[in-house]
Amino acid sequence: MRRIDDPIARRIQAMTGREKFLKENQWYYYLMASDALHGSKVTVNGREMLMFASYSYLDLIGHPRINAAAKAAIDEFSTGTHGVRLLAGTTRLHLELEETIARFKKTDAAVTYSSGFVTNMAAIAALTGRHDFVFSDRLNHASIVDGCLLSMAKFERFKHNDMDDLERKLSSVDPAAGKLVITDAVFSMDGDIINLPAMYDLCRKYGAWLMVDEAHSLGVLGKTGHGIEEHFGMEGCIDIKMGTLSKTIPSVGGYIAGDAELIGYLKHASRPFIFSAALPPAAVAAAKEAFHVIEDEPERVHKAQHNMRYFIDRLQAAGFNTLNTETCIVPIICGSEEKAWEMARLSQAEDIFVLPVVSPAVPEGLSRLRANVTAAHSIDEIDYAVDVFTRAAKKVGVL
Ligand SMILES: *Cc1c(COP(=O)(O)O)cnc(C)c1O
Repeated sequence: MRRIDDPIARRIQAMTGREKFLKENQWYYYLMASDALHGSKVTVNGREMLMFASYSYLDLIGHPRINAAAKAAIDEFSTGTHGVRLLAGTTRLHLELEETIARFKKTDAAVTYSSGFVTNMAAIAALTGRHDFVFSDRLNHASIVDGCLLSMAKFERFKHNDMDDLERKLSSVDPAAGKLVITDAVFSMDGDIINLPAMYDLCRKYGAWLMVDEAHSLGVLGKTGHGIEEHFGMEGCIDIKMGTLSKTIPSVGGYIAGDAELIGYLKHASRPFIFSAALPPAAVAAAKEAFHVIEDEPERVHKAQHNMRYFIDRLQAAGFNTLNTETCIVPIICGSEEKAWEMARLSQAEDIFVLPVVSPAVPEGLSRLRANVTAAHSIDEIDYAVDVFTRAAKKVGVL
C-alpha cells in the first residue's frame, strides 16, 4: 500500500490540480489537436484559425517537393530502418542528408540524431565529463541544461547574454581544464540573438570550445537563411554547430555540423547515436530536400525577415513590451500568469491560435503570449493579429 503522503503521488496530484483549475477557467489551450494545417491557417475543432504559434518559419510544411521526396523515400526504403545508425540503420539517404547539412553549414561533416533534444544531450555528454567545465547561458533551452547535467561536468550558468559575466566565470576556472561554452543562437522564449562576436573572442582568449544551438536561427538569420554566422559575417567561427530538423526544416531530428574529426568522434562516442534507432527514411528525405528548397527559394527567407520586422514594429507602436526580440519569436509580455491566460483566451476567441508561456518556462512576472510570425503570413493577417492582441490587452489591462 502506498502511503497517503507518498511524494511521487503528491507531485502527480499537484499537476492534475493545476490542469483542472485552468480547464475550469477556460484557460487551458495546450495539446489542442489540429485537423488540417495549410500555410498560415490551422483547423481546430472544425474552426479555421490564424496560426501564430508555428515554428515553420519558412512555411515549408506541405511544400510539394518535400512531400514528394518523403513519399519516394517510403517507396524506396519503406517506413523504418534496421536499427541504430552504427550497425544496420544507415541508408544512403542518411549519408546524403549529412552531406547536405555539412554543405549548408559550410563544415566538413555532420551527424544526425533522432531529435534536436537528443542531439544536445548526446553531444554535450559525449564531449565533456566530470573534470571539465560547461558554461551555459541562463536562458538556454532545456535540452542544453539536461545535456550539461547528464555530462557530470561542472555546470556554470552565466547571466543571459552577459559577456562580462561569462568572462568572469571563464577566467576563474583552472586554465588547463576542458571548457565548453554553449548558447542558443536565438533564445526560444525571448527571440533575442546571442552576442556571437564577443562570445567568440572570449572562447579564443580562454581556449574554450564554442557550441551554438541554431533551432530558431536556421532559415531565419542571415541574408540567405544560413544562420547566425552569416548574420554576423563570421563564417567558420563556431566549433560545434547544432540544429534541429523539426522547425524551419519540416521533419524531425537534429544535427551537429563541424570538422571531420569532431563528427567522427560523435559517431563513435555519443550514446544516442550508438544505442537509439536511425531516423526513418521519409523524415531523412524530407529534411534533405528542405535544405535544397531554402537555397532554391531565397524569397522565403526575405518574406520571413520582412514579416518579423513588420510584426515587431507594429506591436511596439501599439505599446507592447516585446523584450529584445529581433526574430520570428515575439514575446508579448503580459505580466501575471492570469493576464497571459486571459490574453490567450481572448485571442483564441477571435480565431488566433496563440499560446501563453508562464513559469517555470519563463520567470514569474514575465508571463507572456509567445507569438511566432512566419513567411506564411500576409500583411493583412499580421495587421488583424495585432488588432486582436491590442483589443485583448486593453481589456485585460496589459495596455
Ligand atoms: C526546439 C528546440 C530544441 C529541440 O529540438 P527538437 O528537434 O524539437 O527536439 C533544441 N534547442 C532549442 C533552442 C529549441 O528551441
